[in-house]
Amino acid sequence: MKDYKQLILANMAWAAEQADEDPDYFARQIGGQTPKFLWIGCSDSRVAPDLITRSPPGGLFIHRNIANLVSEHDGNLMSVVQFAVEVLKVGHVIVCGHYGCGGITAALEGNATGAIDAWLEVAREVGRNHADEIAAMPDREAQVNRFVECNVRDQLVRLARTGIVQRAFAGGQDLQLHGWVYDLRDGHIKPLMEIDRTTELDTVGRPERVL
Ligand code: ZN
Repeated sequence: MKDYKQLILANMAWAAEQADEDPDYFARQIGGQTPKFLWIGCSDSRVAPDLITRSPPGGLFIHRNIANLVSEHDGNLMSVVQFAVEVLKVGHVIVCGHYGCGGITAALEGNATGAIDAWLEVAREVGRNHADEIAAMPDREAQVNRFVECNVRDQLVRLARTGIVQRAFAGGQDLQLHGWVYDLRDGHIKPLMEIDRTTELDTVGRPERVL
């Protein structure tokens, strides 16, 4: 099993091509990063944030976890959000889910174990809060996909309620939050919801506010 060597070979080819096409490329990278976007997405290998948005290295600050969940108790996520908002001063934070998400499917089926089961509690809470809306869908696939949409909306509201984002809004920082879903079936991103400092958070989670 030498599959991993392919990664090193591909990297060698990439670095050589990059230096060939743009001799100053790596010198510029050393100069620091000024990404305009923080991407919070699922760890799923089929959803490659840079690739699907054609973002170059330096374009996206990225955090990924199973089912793109936002919890103020998650030090990993919160340190990424803090750095992006307070230091990099990104203008946009994107929470991007995807249809057919394995994490959301597991939250719906209730068949996860161990660390995954514990992790998915935030997703199960979404499921409980939108149980009727999800159950109303005609089949399992549609139920998972509606759950995915509910999850993106709820995670975006949770993000908006964090102290970091609330302080940025109160300080007049130009910051917008975007909830998107990526469709594995055709490669398109579907915008679901936007939040900025003028948004009434008590009403934003309701379906009629979905774009
Ligand atoms: Zn997923």
